[in-house]
Amino acid sequence: MSSRRKALKTLSTLPIVGGLLGPSLVSAKVAEELVKKPAELAGRDFFKELGIRTFINAAGTYTSMTGSLMRKEVTDAITFGTTEYVNLDELQDKVGERIAELLDCEYATVSSGAFGAMTIGLAGIICGMDNEKVKQLPDTTGLKNEVIVQEEHDIGYTHALMNTGAKIISVKGTKELEKAITKNTAMLWFLNANTDAGQISREEFVALGKKHGIPTFIDCAADVPPVENLFKFTKMGFDLVCFSGGKGIRGPQSAGLLLGKRKYIEAARLHTPPRGTTIARGMKVNKEEVLGMLVALEMYLARDHEKEWELWENQIKLISDSASSVAGVETEIHVPPHANHVPSLKIRWDESVVKITPDELRRQLRDGHPSIETVGNKEEVGITTWMMEPGQERVVAHRIKEILENA
Ligand SMILES: *Cc1c(COP(=O)(O)O)cnc(C)c1O
Repeated sequence: MSSRRKALKTLSTLPIVGGLLGPSLVSAKVAEELVKKPAELAGRDFFKELGIRTFINAAGTYTSMTGSLMRKEVTDAITFGTTEYVNLDELQDKVGERIAELLDCEYATVSSGAFGAMTIGLAGIICGMDNEKVKQLPDTTGLKNEVIVQEEHDIGYTHALMNTGAKIISVKGTKELEKAITKNTAMLWFLNANTDAGQISREEFVALGKKHGIPTFIDCAADVPPVENLFKFTKMGFDLVCFSGGKGIRGPQSAGLLLGKRKYIEAARLHTPPRGTTIARGMKVNKEEVLGMLVALEMYLARDHEKEWELWENQIKLISDSASSVAGVETEIHVPPHANHVPSLKIRWDESVVKITPDELRRQLRDGHPSIETVGNKEEVGITTWMMEPGQERVVAHRIKEILENA
């Protein structure tokens, strides 16, 4: 049998929809089985099918709680992305340029979360545009492989930096930092969330980097709002800045942004797919999420931030008033200065009057209908409303009051 005839014979036994042999060879029934009707999908509640309870998110943008909810425009962009093939590098090139324009910085790329941005950003700094070095990581023999971090900033996310093979050098204050600089120092890393815990200010940190000719990186994963932060730190002089895609920006949870100096971001890209012999081959961002990230950012920039803030303030006040109407209960409204910078509520009470622990209140909220997730510790229950859908604040206010009153 000629190989062509053999191929045809094999093909004709396979159920093919359309394509090479035309639709006539395919029975309607097979085609129907292969292509699930959208209507069937639309009717499915996947979480219910899987036996997973959904909840009102009164906690915030927590990774374990799946971050944030993407808006329809973002999921539309993701769906659009599924309809055509494009060249992955070209897409990242063009989207990077667009984001840099939107955020008025030198260059940008969509990363696999803020964590992935840290790994590829540092890898870019260590290896530059040298493909041999790119292949060598995570073996850093002969390469600059030390990252200096203030001790108060090392809360574990430094693992993203260690993924390159680099070591973390922990210091306290300016004097120690300058003493720790050697010919092996690759980068200085700052955690914005812990700005007030460390002794060195952001401006001084940038100045130290410039003085010693060492690039600086700031982790701003959870630092929008305020929207200004998307511009502030590249302008302040940090060489690289990263943000989570799936927190305040409400993009895909596994996407993020790496912003800053073009030479470092172009070098960072050498570690990412489609290139394969690299440490970041597994930190792929698919085309759908690249588009989703872009649209989420556009949407975030276009939002009425003042109006949104006012809504959050009103929602927090409603819950606060409701909880504090119960005798023995005290509430405190506050806004964290850095990271998760949104109106937030702390609820505490006199346990001799209201006989329930904060953990037990949180458990009852979780187990109730609807389920409500909060944060907290042994002393208090913590609430934010920015990840709620409008109206859910009334449900939360009612449930908290009900449980506290009955305690
Ligand atoms: C959430 C977070 C990260 C990780 O961000 P991803 O986008 O989930 O990768 C890193 N650093 C800080 C400070 C964070 O809050």
